[in-house]
Amino acid sequence: MTPSVIRTRFAPSPTGTLHLGNIRTALFAWAFARHHKGQFVLRIEDTDLERSSDASADGILRDMKWLGLDIDEGPFFQMQRMDRYREVVAQMLADGRAYHCYMSVEELDALRDKQKANNEKPRYDGRWRPENVAKLGLKIPAGVDPVVRFRNPDAGVVAWDDAVKGRIEIANTELDDLVIARPAPVGQVGVPTYNFCVVVDDIDMQISHVIRGDGHVMNTPRQINIFRALGVEPPVFGHTPTVLGNDGEKLSKRHGATGLNEYAANGFLPEAVINGLARLGWSHGNDEIFSPQQLVEWFNLESLTPSPARFDAEKFEWLNGEHIKRLPVETLAQRLEPFLLAAGYAMNNVNPSALAVAELLRERAPTLKKMAEMAAYCYVPPTIDAALLTQHLNDVNRGALQWIKGELASVEWSKPAIAAVLKDAQGKFNVKTPQVMMPLRVLLTGSAQAPAVDALLLTLGREASLARIAVG
Ligand code: GLU
Repeated sequence: MTPSVIRTRFAPSPTGTLHLGNIRTALFAWAFARHHKGQFVLRIEDTDLERSSDASADGILRDMKWLGLDIDEGPFFQMQRMDRYREVVAQMLADGRAYHCYMSVEELDALRDKQKANNEKPRYDGRWRPENVAKLGLKIPAGVDPVVRFRNPDAGVVAWDDAVKGRIEIANTELDDLVIARPAPVGQVGVPTYNFCVVVDDIDMQISHVIRGDGHVMNTPRQINIFRALGVEPPVFGHTPTVLGNDGEKLSKRHGATGLNEYAANGFLPEAVINGLARLGWSHGNDEIFSPQQLVEWFNLESLTPSPARFDAEKFEWLNGEHIKRLPVETLAQRLEPFLLAAGYAMNNVNPSALAVAELLRERAPTLKKMAEMAAYCYVPPTIDAALLTQHLNDVNRGALQWIKGELASVEWSKPAIAAVLKDAQGKFNVKTPQVMMPLRVLLTGSAQAPAVDALLLTLGREASLARIAVG
């Protein structure tokens, strides 16, 4: 049964830059909410004070904005919700769903050692549950601040139908009474713990589907028990598979850029990154190239695969090139311009515009950064390798090129007129197309691999073109 309002959340810890694995989880949660016309909530889980930073939280917001993962509510910061968590702990203490435990670290260690020696799984034995305190004759030790523990059900199983992994069942005997608040004098509530805060948040934020990385799958049964203790039916859980490098190892720096900000800096389009991320563990038939809108239209949890996804840097770059080709050229030019400026090319009325460069190179460059690098010859005269030039320019075609240069001095500067000059030269001098085009490519760009010559000439402009066609 699908709840009437779909609400998903992304709950990153602000302890570094977003990498591909965690942003992919955000993408799935976002796409699911958008597909169902639901809401997408951002919650910053900043309770690890030592590792959390404002800079990281800002980076998360910046990266999500860049990718276009718009949020409907939040960001909520867990550190600002401590009073709320404490209030729930206090209620649970008051009605017996939680209790104070005075066991010291030494006692816990001793218990664990004993259990291990007996080949038992180490777990807290529930000795400070109120009914056991009397039975065991426990005395509250002086000067010890108790923790608060959740009274986990003793029997039965916790089961859920994971939207990705299928049915999962854990016996309650496997779970002990979780600490939900750290030590504090009786009458005060200590700092609430992670698994507890997550549940209070998911309840308060009315999350219908928890879509998160499968590193959290072991937390889920404990969280489900807390949901039920709080009288709330748990949400649907879907644990997304890990992202590996294409060598099967956990994704790391070795596999190329892994931080989302590096993708932006390297001239990837957010559309392409969304496409590439979505294909890490999700598919729609044989569709390889799709837009963010298509993803939203098609997204479902059923098509997520439970097996680990493999990240392939080359495929990401290929996809980016495909999205570059499909982008309206004006939009491409807008995105390209900052890369041209960063490469040191001024945007003025002498230099080729970003639009002209985008027209010229849109089919040829896999990233905006590489497009700007490739565009060097549009702004700076190339160094010509003498050997390369002699290979393409000789006595057979020199006359044709001289004639072309002469014509270009006065022809109307339009692509058809330029193309006509290039064509006429071939008839007039009885030379083949490559004999005209190859030396011109070398002269204009420094390389024999270059776009069509009429397009090149048009982009470079009359003055720069004539200066480069140095054929005597
Ligand atoms: N803060 C957790 C993380 O970054 C996510 C917890 C969750 O989604 O429930 O891994």
